[in-house]
Formats: sequence, structure tokens, C-alpha cells
Amino acid sequence: MPPLQTKTPKILTAEELYAILKNIKLGGQVCHYSLKKCEELAPLVNEVNALKAEQDAVILAHTYVVPEILYGVADFVGDSYGLSKNAMSTPAKKIVFAAVKFMGETAQILNPDKEVLMPAKDGGCTLADAINGSEVRRLRQEFPDRTFVCYINTTAEVKAECDVCVTSANVVRVVERIPDKKIYFLPDKFMGQNLIHELKKRGVSKDILYFNGTCDVHKEYTLEQVHKVNLEYPEAKVVSHPECKPEVCEASDYVGSTSQMLQYMRKTAADQFLMLTECGLSARLQVEFPEKHLVGTCTLCDYMKSNDLHDIIRVLKHPTDKDRISVPPSIQEKAKKCIEAMFLYAEK
Ligand code: SF4
Repeated sequence: MPPLQTKTPKILTAEELYAILKNIKLGGQVCHYSLKKCEELAPLVNEVNALKAEQDAVILAHTYVVPEILYGVADFVGDSYGLSKNAMSTPAKKIVFAAVKFMGETAQILNPDKEVLMPAKDGGCTLADAINGSEVRRLRQEFPDRTFVCYINTTAEVKAECDVCVTSANVVRVVERIPDKKIYFLPDKFMGQNLIHELKKRGVSKDILYFNGTCDVHKEYTLEQVHKVNLEYPEAKVVSHPECKPEVCEASDYVGSTSQMLQYMRKTAADQFLMLTECGLSARLQVEFPEKHLVGTCTLCDYMKSNDLHDIIRVLKHPTDKDRISVPPSIQEKAKKCIEAMFLYAEK
């Protein structure tokens, strides 16, 4: 028997899609929309929404993927922390995760009975690819008296070797609450350095060592860029992501995850902002806060931008083993403990 249609698919016209996306200017061609482009995209959007309804599927999309996914087909849009929670609470049978592979793995670990599909052509991530399980095992032998804390941007295999996971939204809060003073943080060295700095500011004493991974997108931002914007737009608020270099975060008015950056813009009276993160957030801000002005530029993540509507249709219609996230049960169980420890510390 074919699956029952559980939701009424939303139908978007090209004009409606264009009305949503036309204000996006930053991010180059990939984030630039004309009515003609929306005429090509609207049938794909409607096909995805019909397939979702037929198959009881839900689409989770990271803020960094292309705007036609965010505003055309996504059921939930957010950062790693918010999407992990959405993944846990969705009653849908199938999850399509428009993001990169480690996020799909997290969704599968939290939903072992659901099918998790990844449409990304290249679901890599320079942070997640910086370290593997055997390297963590070696480090644990070298530093046996430390609590190993991993950023969510790690593979399931790495999470399975660590004690507690964190996201950019809760890293300070979680590490502050871990009883152990001695921490090994991986894989992002800039986030590790920013964490040390922030804990010191709060008067929290921890002895933190960190690995040497970096995000290719966020490491591009420099202090010179911040100073240039400070000179050209003295009223602009500088907002950065904790994967940026410490000197960039230090010179910023606010540092947070993409969702926290968006909240900061929402509640701050200022009119001009420099957002130091991937262009997807800039796109969201131009759609959701058209009255505010973005200054400077943004950087694209090729991995996140390798998700498109054609591939979402393909994985919904003809999924292959390559599209399905499959974490071996032994890794799943250990990685789940690491993620659950994060929820415990973040929410207590
Ligand atoms: S923006 Fe950086 S951390 Fe995020 S997926 Fe891309 S490479 Fe990885």
C-alpha cells in the first residue's frame, strides 16, 4: 500500500518565491535571484514538497545551505544545536538533512529507527575531516587524566571516543559545567582559544588543551577586515562566529552561533552589521530583516552549498546506500552517550 499523504503540500509560485528571495545580494551568483531563476526553481520546490507529504518526510536545513532550500522546502532551519533537537522531536518517518555529513550522522544517532538521507554532493567539512577516531584514541593515551570534549563538527567515530559534545551555541556553558578542570578540546583550535578566553573573562578556572583543526570558511576573516569596517562604518556592529580567529572575536561586539547571531541582530537597535560567518546567514538576514543593512562581505562553504533541490528530489525518489546515513550500532551507542552528555550539561 502506498504511504498515506499526511500533510497538504505547500504550492509556491515563481512570483511568491521571487518575492521572498529578491532582497538577497551578498554571496555571489549562488545566492542571487531573478524572476527567471525562480521560474526554474518553483517547480522543483513544489515537487519536493509533494514528495515530502507523500513519504512523511521532514527536511532539516542548516542556515548555510542555498536559500531556495531554506525558504522553499525546509521544515526546520537552524544551527547544529537546534537541528539536533528538531531531529529528536520529529514524528516524521524519514529525515532529509540538507547540510553536511556529520550533521546527518548526529540525526541518525538520535533517531536510530528513522531513515536519514543526505542530498549533499560533497558532505565534507574541514573541521570534521581534521581528526579521526584513532587519533583521538592516541590523544587519550597521551592525556589520560583529561575530559575529552568534541565540537559537534566531528564524525560519529570521533564522538564515540569523546566524553562530551558541544555546539557553537553552548560550548562555554557546557565546559563551564563539566566538573573536571582538565579538558582536551577538539578539533577547532580557534574555538578552543576563544573558549579559554571567555572562561577566563567569567573567572572560571580550567586547564584546556586543544587540537589544531580550523574551518576553512571562518579562518578567512581577519582583524584588518574588522578595522576597515570600523573605519568605514563606525556605527556598524561586528558579529562573529566562535570558529573565527581569537583576535577577530575579541574585536567583535558579539560572538555566537548562527542562531545566536540572528537573535543578536533581532534585538539590537543598530542599523548596520558586519556578520563574520558563511553567506547563508547573510541571506537569511536580508530576507528576515530587510530594514537592517549588512556591510562588508561573506564567505561561502562549498560543502554546504553542494546541497540542491535536484539532489533532494533524487534522494527522496531513488535513494542509494550512499545517500543513506548508516552509523554502525557500536559507534552509535557510544556517540549517543557523548551527545546526551551535552544535553545534560547544556540544559541543567
Ligand atoms: S562552514 Fe566550516 S565548519 Fe561549517 S561545514 Fe563548512 S567547513 Fe565545516
